[in-house]
Amino acid sequence: MEITLVGTGSPLPDPNRAGPCTLIKAGEDNGEHVVFDTGRGCVMRMPLAQTAPGFLAGVVITHLHSDHLTAFNDIVTTHWITAPEGTPLRVWGPVGIKHYVDHMLLALGPDVQYRIDHHDDLTWEPDVQVTEVVPGDSFTIGSMSISCFETCHAPVEPTVGYRVESAGKVVAIAGDTIPCDGLDALTKDADVYVQTVIRADIVKTIPIARLQDILDYHSSVEQAGQVAAKNGVKTLMLTHYVPAPQPEQYDEWIAIAANEFDGEIVMGDDLTSVTI
Ligand SMILES: [Zn+2]
Ligand SMILES: [Zn+2]
Repeated sequence: MEITLVGTGSPLPDPNRAGPCTLIKAGEDNGEHVVFDTGRGCVMRMPLAQTAPGFLAGVVITHLHSDHLTAFNDIVTTHWITAPEGTPLRVWGPVGIKHYVDHMLLALGPDVQYRIDHHDDLTWEPDVQVTEVVPGDSFTIGSMSISCFETCHAPVEPTVGYRVESAGKVVAIAGDTIPCDGLDALTKDADVYVQTVIRADIVKTIPIARLQDILDYHSSVEQAGQVAAKNGVKTLMLTHYVPAPQPEQYDEWIAIAANEFDGEIVMGDDLTSVTI
């Protein structure tokens, strides 16, 4: 499997970072492509990750915070106009994702009609097949067997983390969460654990109430390291950085996690990837 941080950004706009989006390639010749979350601008990064909306075998959403969904409509439209007829876009996400998709398709209605009216060979509407999941559910996408775990991002509910198994390897995609029992179960003995993180030590020094509010429902870099160590993870991947680090600061972030966890720690620019 190949795990790529397509977008490592946060709600704060940054020209160098797309919003949160993690790509897993698995199966024969890594030909099965699935993205987890669809943050701002991730579609622009996809060609650099050798993928595209029309190639996606699935889109999986951790929760309905807008920074994880901003590019969803771009994926729907680009998939529709580039994939062959009869290729549905398959989506999994927490309860509420169906409502979100239904309303997005309503909003896209005029564009869909314009294109159908204009292109003789385009006779079908977007076919988005949505499955809502709850913790304890599992599903498959090609060779990937994916199980759903409760994560803890209150008051945002529901939130779901995904444990992806293929060819004897395990990747845990946590989304936004603080440490909790569900996160422990999700990450247990994972080969790769992908965690969205904030630098709590820095955020605490910024006297802006709306930034202080994020401290109680995101993992700090320390907490990500602690969860990785507690649960026997092999490689910890950090993403969704707040505040966005400059490349020369990556070593400092990694050192903070390394105080808690002695496995491999990976972070970096958009498109940073790991192969297992
Ligand atoms: Zn969130
Ligand atoms: Zn977020």
